[in-house]
Formats: sequence, C-alpha cells, structure tokens
Amino acid sequence: MSQTAFSSLSLHPELLENLKSLNYQEMTPIQALSLPDILAGKDVIGQGKTGSGKTAAFGLGILNSLEVKRFRIQALVMCPTRELADQVAKEIRSLGRAIHNIKVLTLCGGMPFGPQAGSLEHGAHIIIGTPGRIDDHLRRGTLALDHVHTLVLDEADRMLEMGFQDTIDAIIEKTPRQRQTLLFSATFPKQIKRIANAIMVDPVLVKAPALH
Ligand code: ADP
Ligand code: MG
Repeated sequence: MSQTAFSSLSLHPELLENLKSLNYQEMTPIQALSLPDILAGKDVIGQGKTGSGKTAAFGLGILNSLEVKRFRIQALVMCPTRELADQVAKEIRSLGRAIHNIKVLTLCGGMPFGPQAGSLEHGAHIIIGTPGRIDDHLRRGTLALDHVHTLVLDEADRMLEMGFQDTIDAIIEKTPRQRQTLLFSATFPKQIKRIANAIMVDPVLVKAPALH
C-alpha cells in the first residue's frame, strides 16, 4: 500500500469512502506527513504554502475523533477572516458529509450576533470562526468551550499580523488544558514559535511544499 494512500490511515470507513467519492485519491505531502500524528492525538505544527491541503489535514483529524452522539462543541477552528472560515467550513462539511447529523457552525464578525447566539443555543459539534467574534460570544456567555478536545489555529501567521494575539490567548484560556492543539501557518516567524511553545505540548513540526 502506498504511503500516500488515505487507506493507510486509521480513518473511519465512512470517511475513507467519502474521500473516494470526492476524488481525493492520494494524500498531499503535508497530509501524508501530518495525518498519522494528528490521528494519534499529538500536537502538530504544519507549515505549508497555500494550496497544500492543510484543511483536510486538520479536518480529517477533527472528524475522525468526533463523537457525533455527544452533541456538544468538540472542536474549535480559528481563522483570520470570514472568507477563510467559510472555506474551511465548506471543506469540513464536504469531508464529513458521510457522517450523519454533524453540525458545523461558523462564528464570524460582520454577521449579526443574535442569529449566531440562537444557533449556539441549538448546539454544534464543530465551531469555525474568527477570533474577535468567538471572543465576543465567550464574553457574553453565549458560547462555552469546556468540551473542546481539538483546537486549531489556521493561518496563524496571518492572525498574528492582524493583531489577534491577545484575543487568541483569551480564547485558548477558555479551552480545556487536556486537548489536542494543531497550528497551521504558511510562514514560521519567531512569534509563532513562541506561541506554539506556550500552547502546545511536544509539538511535531511538519513542513511541506505546495501541491503545484
Ligand atoms: P491550504 O489550506 O493548504 O491552502 P486547502 O486545504 O484549501 O489548502 O486545499 C486546497 C485545495 O486542494 C482544496 O480545493 C481541496 O479541496 C483540495 N485538496 C486537498 N487535499 C486534497 C487531496 N488529498 N486530493 C485532492 N484534492 C485535495
Ligand atoms: Mg488553508
């Protein structure tokens, strides 16, 4: 079996079947390098350019460990912008479409607060959003992160450039210490290393080139 075959991973059969139907034939380099550790529950720092397939790397990790019957927030993904959060939500919904009743909710600024709070009352498994709005919900008591077991910082370098560091710190403070933390970034400046050291436990560092 090829090392880049998704079937070499311990993924749930319905996720594997769905990857076939999405025509994901082989893992991209960053997926092949990171997924074994992600699925093993380790903290992982993934560095790869745009288009290297980072979303499916953490998305499959989230979906594979999700307990659908426990209707509570088990994964939180932070993205720099609403557009990116929407893209990540779309990809995770598509990767998880073979698993019934998964609820993925986006929480981004620039959208009315009330309907988001209403949706949160109905519950979700996976939250994807921008730091500012996630923090707003935490402060107003419309969101609790006590059952999060996977925390993802996507495009971490961009979130720092946008000045989200303190907000991200405040959000992470509200998640359980016993969690898996995954951090993805196109670049890896010193500031990211410092953050990784502060929020991750023995992270595995994987680096991969772009697909094309
Ligand atoms: P990144 O976040 O690294 O910029 P994305 O996760 O957005 O990249 O992936 C880029 C594109 O590649 C998306 O359209 C995604 O659906 C597709 N893709 C990801 N992994 C695979 C794969 N293993 N096989 C085929 N297409 C893939
Ligand atoms: Mg991405």
